Amino acid sequence: MTKSDILHIDNQHIWHPYASAVNPLTPFIITQAKGVYLYTDEGKKLIDGMSSWWSVIHGYNNPLLNNAACKQLESMAHVMFGGLTHEPAAALTKSLLAIIPAHLTRVFYSDSGSVAVEVALKMAIQYWHAQGKPTKQKFITIRGGYHGDTWHAMSVCDPETGMHALFSGALPQQFFVPRPSSTYGSTWNPQDIVPFEEMCAAHHSEIAGFIFEPIVQGAGGMYFYHPQFLQEAERICKKYDILCIADEIATGFGRTGNMFACEHAHIEPDILCVGKAITGGYMSFAATVCTHEIAAGISHASPGVFMHGPTFMANPLACAIAHTSIGLLCSSDWKQKIATIEQQLQSLLHPFASQESVADVRVIGAIGVIEMKEAVDMKSIQPRFVENGVWVRPFGKLVYIMPPYIISKEELEELVAGIAKTLFTNR
Ligand code: PMP
Repeated sequence: MTKSDILHIDNQHIWHPYASAVNPLTPFIITQAKGVYLYTDEGKKLIDGMSSWWSVIHGYNNPLLNNAACKQLESMAHVMFGGLTHEPAAALTKSLLAIIPAHLTRVFYSDSGSVAVEVALKMAIQYWHAQGKPTKQKFITIRGGYHGDTWHAMSVCDPETGMHALFSGALPQQFFVPRPSSTYGSTWNPQDIVPFEEMCAAHHSEIAGFIFEPIVQGAGGMYFYHPQFLQEAERICKKYDILCIADEIATGFGRTGNMFACEHAHIEPDILCVGKAITGGYMSFAATVCTHEIAAGISHASPGVFMHGPTFMANPLACAIAHTSIGLLCSSDWKQKIATIEQQLQSLLHPFASQESVADVRVIGAIGVIEMKEAVDMKSIQPRFVENGVWVRPFGKLVYIMPPYIISKEELEELVAGIAKTLFTNR
């Protein structure tokens, strides 16, 4: 196909994420990706700052992951999971259980992060139903959060600033508390937990679960909050029979410096959602993991089964790649690598805090955020990032990066230099 054919079909018939169908920005054509680089059809080599939205932790075109995919294809790409099982699912489950908290023992596989969140919310409601508490059907969450684009996941995203405000009248109404003013690394302000405690005290008979992105709120504002909020929240949830649901879809698999961000707060969620990096960014895949108590509670009560079962549940190809990806992560010195990226991001990004146009700079693990005072103009800034050899996709005022863990010191310097040139030099 010629470039103009691709762009014509794209422009006329394909819908991109959060995009207009009648006035879309022209996308860049990527023909290949390798390591930390994306290659455009025009021969431009871009350092990837996004890990394709948190997922490509080992870089693109990894020989081990490629090999896992090819090997699995020789036996089967897919088989239904109803009534059948297979070694890739068992092997992945073994490797997943080895890295998540030990009390989480039952895994439900699905095809995307949003679905993993839907599954978690359904689990919580079905569990309380089984416990004779059928009025517990709502959720409490922190403002500024993001949990996906499907229906109930949308209902727990930030109700005003979130991308889903348009649907607010049509969505189930949930309980929202202000996000903690105490940021990660600052002093804990005990007032931060008060609205949460009051809301739980007043409405616990209706609340099935507390869903949260531990420590790092991602697409809702790239906000890093104090671990003590989660410790206090866990205590309150226990008191009021509210399940803790950790959405680690963005933060999981080392991104914040710990294997899972819950570890920063030493909390033990009842349900954990993982996705994105689970396959090293090779395939859309996710898992919702719960305790034996929840799984058994649901299974011992009528109808005796958990009411969910996607067509591509535990897809063998995805399982084989995910198993290899987790193996690759665990056999690497990932903790040291993330700590090195973190230190480098601190020293490279913090000088930008003194720029006139910058409101804040923050770093945790392999995540770096430059918050601007004004929203960036995507139409003009996106081509300039590309011109400067980097792939960065800001939203609103937030210019942020979470590069593949394999990025070298020099590549990270180049990535940040490309960002600085784009943001801070006049043309
Ligand atoms: N939860 C969080 C914290 C996320 O960041 C995302 C994706 N950005 C989702 C859920 C939804 O995942 P998916 O896009 O795979 O449906």
